[in-house]
Amino acid sequence: MSSEYLVSAKQRMLDQHLRARGITDERVLAAMQHVPREEFVSEALRPHAYDDRALPVELGQTISQPYTVAFMAQASQLHGHERVLEIGTGTGYGAAVLACMAAEVFTVERWPELCDTATQRLERLGFRNVVTKLGDGSQGWPERSPFDAIVVTAAAERLPTAFFDQLAEGGRIIIPIGGPGGGQTMFRFTRQNGELLEESLGMFSFVPLVCDS
Ligand code: SAH
Repeated sequence: MSSEYLVSAKQRMLDQHLRARGITDERVLAAMQHVPREEFVSEALRPHAYDDRALPVELGQTISQPYTVAFMAQASQLHGHERVLEIGTGTGYGAAVLACMAAEVFTVERWPELCDTATQRLERLGFRNVVTKLGDGSQGWPERSPFDAIVVTAAAERLPTAFFDQLAEGGRIIIPIGGPGGGQTMFRFTRQNGELLEESLGMFSFVPLVCDS
């Protein structure tokens, strides 16, 4: 597999899988162009790094499909000055994309092995504005709050209350809600005058958010 192959696969991803399907935010497209997705998957899966599908990673988890990562990043409405909380670091790919679009990204992963690997990878690739933490992300990260956006990359059965408490006024929570299997509905909750405005954004499929409590 040559680097030219990856360059053209990435261009195909941008044109056919993202722009053609409604990803119009140029900041999202620039971030997806910038982050080398091949660095976030195993050697064997590198030729498929820019396929528009989720790929398996360690411990039965997945790296989300490029369209899903872009969709959530676009729904977060980032302009560059924001503090973002991501739940479910996984490989660190989503955090890297968000890091290109916001001031700081705080990301929480419950599996030590994934958290360590992602932390090292993000450091090696030079993403200096990402801070990782091992723990149950359904509790958010109170010490680092408030956040302008909270992006949850695993399926929750309901909206964890901690997220509302840690959201800045005007902030957005992007979260897939629904039971495992059969897909979940992606919601955007926007905090306005201390209340949450709810929008349903379509069906997606995620691994479950596993809560310790
Ligand atoms: N954003 C990731 C994809 C994440 S898949 C990427 O770009 O690669 C969902 C991740 O959420 C998995 O790594 C899973 O271990 C993690 N997860 C599940 N429940 C969690 C919880 N309660 N707290 C933190 N992480 C959790």
